[in-house]
Amino acid sequence: RTARLLGPAEIRDLAELLDVTPTKKLGQNFVHDGNTVRRIVQTAGVERGETVLEIGPGLGSLTLGLLEAGADVVAVEIDGRLARQLPHTATVMQPGTRLTVVHDDALRVTSLPGAPTRLVANLPYNVSVPVLLHLLEHLPSLRSGIVMVQAEVGHRLAAEPGSKVYGAPSVKAAWYGRWRIAGQVSRMVFWPVPNVDSVLVGFERGEAPGDPPATEAERVAVFALVDAAFQQRRKMLRQSLSGVLGGTSAAATAVLEGAGIDPQARGEQLTVDDFLRVARAAASA
Ligand code: SAM
Repeated sequence: RTARLLGPAEIRDLAELLDVTPTKKLGQNFVHDGNTVRRIVQTAGVERGETVLEIGPGLGSLTLGLLEAGADVVAVEIDGRLARQLPHTATVMQPGTRLTVVHDDALRVTSLPGAPTRLVANLPYNVSVPVLLHLLEHLPSLRSGIVMVQAEVGHRLAAEPGSKVYGAPSVKAAWYGRWRIAGQVSRMVFWPVPNVDSVLVGFERGEAPGDPPATEAERVAVFALVDAAFQQRRKMLRQSLSGVLGGTSAAATAVLEGAGIDPQARGEQLTVDDFLRVARAAASA
């Protein structure tokens, strides 16, 4: 059953053929276990004929699983050697399938062929949060996804207010929709073996927060508030937000009270809707 996917031998052969030594800088850890690949594709609920976006296809482990499930895959890979090889690997292992490889930095793409609706990716760990936020900002066609990330990052993305790991990534992710932990992945399925565990994280895009729904300018204002609030995580909001709300603690207090938020609260207690209320109160102050 795994003959059309990449196992340890195929990964080794491809790396040798391309003279690839995986680099930490690009978060290159390749999955060599077909069962893991099929589990990710199943968890993602990939449907035949839909256009799936994959970021960082690498040697093609997950790509082949997505093609096997009948998806049209658009794959964005920053490493030229990997991007150039991938169509050949797909033709040999999954003939007759539909793959478009884009050789680019995922942090720079602002449009893609095929208007992909679903993201399925084993993300490069060092840039997983910026990549997710960038894609959600620039690709409105993306409605849902399953991504593999470092466990610690996954728990941050899915964290609720009040949790120890709730931080700027949690609020920013919540801006775009709902997030959940969808499974654990052993570090042993990767070559080379990373020194952290991984989780699968699922998301469903929602409406913009607020009533009326927030604008792009409000998103930018909220993200600036969030950055300020969590830069000084242990401080009360009237202090941590003073720099962005009028310059003094008294000015920040007035805005926070106008938004119905306790000026003595800390960022970790606020929902994304709370942050939006603060941004709106600041704009009308
Ligand atoms: N999907 C493959 C797999 O599961 O075996 C490889 C996953 S590996 C964790 C991450 C991949 O992302 C690597 O192929 C790396 O070259 C690529 N990558 C790193 N930074 C990137 C970026 N900014 N844009 C696009 N691809 C990137």
